[in-house]
Amino acid sequence: MAEKNLPPWSHTFFSDYGTCPSRAYHKYVAKDVPKEETDALKEGRRVHDALDARVTNGVQLPDIYQKYEFLAAPLAAYRPIGELKLGILWSGKPCGFFDKEVWGRGVIDVPIINAARTSAILFDWKTGKRKEDPTELRLQALLLHAQHPTLQHITGHYIWLRDLAIGESHNLSDVDATWEEVRYQWNVIFNHAKAGHWPEREGPLCSYCPVKKCRFWRPSPEGK
Ligand code: SF4
Repeated sequence: MAEKNLPPWSHTFFSDYGTCPSRAYHKYVAKDVPKEETDALKEGRRVHDALDARVTNGVQLPDIYQKYEFLAAPLAAYRPIGELKLGILWSGKPCGFFDKEVWGRGVIDVPIINAARTSAILFDWKTGKRKEDPTELRLQALLLHAQHPTLQHITGHYIWLRDLAIGESHNLSDVDATWEEVRYQWNVIFNHAKAGHWPEREGPLCSYCPVKKCRFWRPSPEGK
């Protein structure tokens, strides 16, 4: 049940929708707000690129990121294909990230899969504050399982770069439960979208929202 005006789901779309449906509408459906660009986002991209080059291609980390070498080197030893872009169809079959019919999509920073394709462990670099919410990892596991249905055991960790620490181990193996939750969430959004129901939800993130014409928008403490 794709809705032609809705974007493919992703962790960021669901997360934005959960924060404020109106914000999600302007960012992903109307697309009438500028792409968010902050120093933190730019730095996050630079760190991800450097770590991906290190883990996937063995490229030495720049001096400023050498402090992450002890986290990256053990993962690089498995020779993973980092920044793996995956897509899924409404049917649950896998597809390309950019395919026309893609229903949901995501990127896995570091997927490590055993040779028999029965077990996988996922790592996700995080530059923000520590928060062990497995939702993003669970969506990644769902996408990976669609590509490799023989996977029986999937675990995942965030890597907290500020703390120089590997986070908790999350069991992501119950992809059927994740699938049901995604379908449910999608149906809620789908039905609201059909009714044009994208309510504003005022909250602390209004200061960091790109929808400046919203009545709840206010400048951030940093003045942007
Ligand atoms: S300013 Fe607040 S209420 Fe308005 S769209 Fe943004 S997040 Fe939603």
